[in-house]
Amino acid sequence: MSTATLTIDLMSIRANWRALSALSAGVTGAVVKANGYGLDAARVSRALAQEGARHFFVAVAEEGAVVRRALGPGPKIYVFSGHMETDTSLIRDHQLIPMINSVDQLLRHVEAMPDVEFGVQLDSGMNRLGLEPLEWQAVRDLVLRLKPEILMSHLACADDPQHTMNGQQLREFRDMTDGLNIPRSLAATGGILLGNSYHFELTRPGVGLYGGAPFETAQSVVTLDVPVIQVRDVDTGETVGYSNTWTAPTPRKIATVSAGYADGIMRNLGPNLSLYSERVACPVVGRISMDLIGVDITLLADTPNNLQLLNSLQSIDDLAAAADTIGYEVLTSLGSRYQRRYRET
Ligand SMILES: *Cc1c(COP(=O)(O)O)cnc(C)c1O
Repeated sequence: MSTATLTIDLMSIRANWRALSALSAGVTGAVVKANGYGLDAARVSRALAQEGARHFFVAVAEEGAVVRRALGPGPKIYVFSGHMETDTSLIRDHQLIPMINSVDQLLRHVEAMPDVEFGVQLDSGMNRLGLEPLEWQAVRDLVLRLKPEILMSHLACADDPQHTMNGQQLREFRDMTDGLNIPRSLAATGGILLGNSYHFELTRPGVGLYGGAPFETAQSVVTLDVPVIQVRDVDTGETVGYSNTWTAPTPRKIATVSAGYADGIMRNLGPNLSLYSERVACPVVGRISMDLIGVDITLLADTPNNLQLLNSLQSIDDLAAAADTIGYEVLTSLGSRYQRRYRET
């Protein structure tokens, strides 16, 4: 077998939830959108439910149905995209809570299912989803009579604690919601780290659960072992890979490993990336191909069966920095060809 193995440590995800929960003033939920940030929403949700999580957030109703099947009745499942035209039966069949974003959605929801619980998403400045302050003012009394489960908003700059946008959005959110006596939710991972004034009744961490920044003390969650397919010696002056971008400065030993950009290992990572054998960093040489990567293993005494691309020494954020992106994108790009293993105990 030559596909790489992605090991997902559900115990670390549980530990990260526990740690974020300990930091949160109110109740701590869990964001499992995009198939649990690429790691399997059903397994992640079940693991977190075992840890005590009772509030789950997804992006779209279809994801909510998957999480409901995994969890069974009981836990609350909120849908960020709200109540879209074709969502009505999904919402009803799977007891989802749409986070209403607009007056259109509000009317659709009230017409289709006046008795079904819902939340309201307010725009406090990010201008992505949610009712604007003036819209909220116009429909607030109607909404309050319908007894929403929760009022939420989302921070645009919470990964930067110094950013003035954080305080500005907090004020805007409070202006829209103070004194209404309805549970509120503002903080994702970054917002939890900003402190108690951002927490309200329910927090919504996502990336921190999966071991990513800005939760710097997160436990590492993913390990990626990539099989070595072939090893060769190259002489000084020989080149490796497409377009001859790397030339051996001295005689080197090169391993060809079985993974590439089709597996989410972005091609522009090449020059800044190493794979690990135990604690020894072995640099990538030449271009990353669709399914193959060249690695300089001259430093190693023996030829290993596998090299590690992700582990406690090289995190999703290290990869993200090398590719000039964010850990979220690295995680959600992890390939479907990987053999997946889950540590559950
Ligand atoms: C993705 C998302 C979250 C989780 O954010 P993280 O930064 O991953 O913790 C919370 N709330 C909303 C509205 C989101 O879109």
